[in-house]
Amino acid sequence: MKNTDLTQFRDTGTLYLSAPEAAELIRRQGLPFCLQHMAEHIRADFLRWADFDKTARVAAHSKDGVIELMPVADDHRYSFKYVNGHPGNTRFGMSTVMAFGVLADVDTGAPLFLSELTLTTALRTAAMSALAAKTLARPDSRVMALIGNGAQSEFQALAFQHLVGITTLRVYDVDPAASAKLVANLQGSGLQITVCASTAEAVKGADIVTTVTADKAMALILTPDMIQPGMHLNAVGGDCPGKTELHGDILDVAKVFVEYEPQSRVEGEIQHKPADFAVTELWQVLRGERAGRDNVKQVTVFDSVGFALEDFSALRFMMDSALRLGMGERIALIPQLADPKNLFDMLNAAAPVASVKAPFRLAA
Ligand code: NAD
Repeated sequence: MKNTDLTQFRDTGTLYLSAPEAAELIRRQGLPFCLQHMAEHIRADFLRWADFDKTARVAAHSKDGVIELMPVADDHRYSFKYVNGHPGNTRFGMSTVMAFGVLADVDTGAPLFLSELTLTTALRTAAMSALAAKTLARPDSRVMALIGNGAQSEFQALAFQHLVGITTLRVYDVDPAASAKLVANLQGSGLQITVCASTAEAVKGADIVTTVTADKAMALILTPDMIQPGMHLNAVGGDCPGKTELHGDILDVAKVFVEYEPQSRVEGEIQHKPADFAVTELWQVLRGERAGRDNVKQVTVFDSVGFALEDFSALRFMMDSALRLGMGERIALIPQLADPKNLFDMLNAAAPVASVKAPFRLAA
C-alpha cells in the first residue's frame, strides 16, 4: 500500500465505493480476474500471518440473526467489516448477509477507503474457499456438489471452476427457485450443471462438497453416510454459535482445517467438539509449516467461518482496483478543518454547507 493513499485522503477525502460501483468494477475487470486476484491477495496476507494483530470477531446475537464487527491490522493498515447474518431476511426482500467496511491508515487513523462489502464478501468467501480447496482437495477433483443455491452460490461455483478446475456441478436447495436462479445465472459459464432432488443425490460421486446454506440451527446438511473417501468438504454456511451444517461424526473421521482457531472454536463446525479437538490453521499449510491432506483417501474439511484478514485482503484489492480504474468518489466523511483544534467552527453559520458535504481540499 502506497503513501499516496494518505496524500490523496488529505487532499480530497475518503474514497467511497458504492455497491453499484463495486459491481461495475468487477464487471470491467471480469469476475475470474477478480476471484484470482482476491485469492492471491488473501494468500499473500495469510503468508505473513504473524504480522497481523488478530482478534475473533465481536458478535451481537439476537433472536433472528447476528451483527458482527471484524477488525484486523498490521503496522500500516487497519480494517474492519460490519456484517450481519439474518437467514429470514429474504422473506422481507433483503439479503441474508449485508456488509460494508473501512481500510484505514494506522499512523494517523485516517479512513482511506469506505466500501460496500456485500458483493465483495461473496467474492472473498469464494476466493478463500477455492484457495483452501486448491491446497487441500485432491488435485484431480472435477465434480462439486453445491448445497444451498442462494446469494453466495454462483460465486462459489465460478471460483471453483476458474481456480480449482471444477467442470461439473451437482446442485441442491430446499427452494427449487434458488436452484433455477443459479442455473440461469451460470448459463454460458461452461459448467455442466445437474439439479438434484436431495443433498444425498447431489453429493453422490462428488470430489468436493460445498455447503452454503442459511438456517439459524444446528442443521444436519451432511451426514456420515454421504461421505466418500478422498472428499474435500467446504463447509461455508455454519458460521455462528448454534448454526452448523455437518454431523459431528464427520469431523471425527476427517482432517479439519480452520482460518483462525480462537474464532472457529466458537463459530465453526468444531463448536460441537472439545477444546482439544485437533485442527490445523490454513496459513500453516500455505507456509509449508504443517501438512495438508495426508493421502488421497483422507477426507478433508475446510471449516470456514470468514475471518477479518480475508476482508482486509479484499479491501486492499478493491481499493487498488478503484484507484487504477479511476472509480469511486471522494467523500467528506471526516470534517476538513483549517484549524484542526477548531471543530466548533463547523457549526458557525458562516461555514459553507458544501464544506461538509462535498469533496474537499485541505488548506495548504
Ligand atoms: P441465502 O439466504 O441467500 O441462501 C441460502 C440458501 O440455503 C437458500 O436458498 C436456502 O433455501 C438454502 N437452504 C437453507 N436450508 C437448506 C437445506 N437444509 N438444504 C439445502 N438448502 C438449504 O444466504 P447466502 O448469502 O447464500 O449465505 C449462505 C450461508 O453462508 C449463510 O449461512 C451465511 O451466513 C454463510 N456465509 C459464510 C461466509 C463465510 O465466510 N464462511 C461468508 C458469507 C456467508
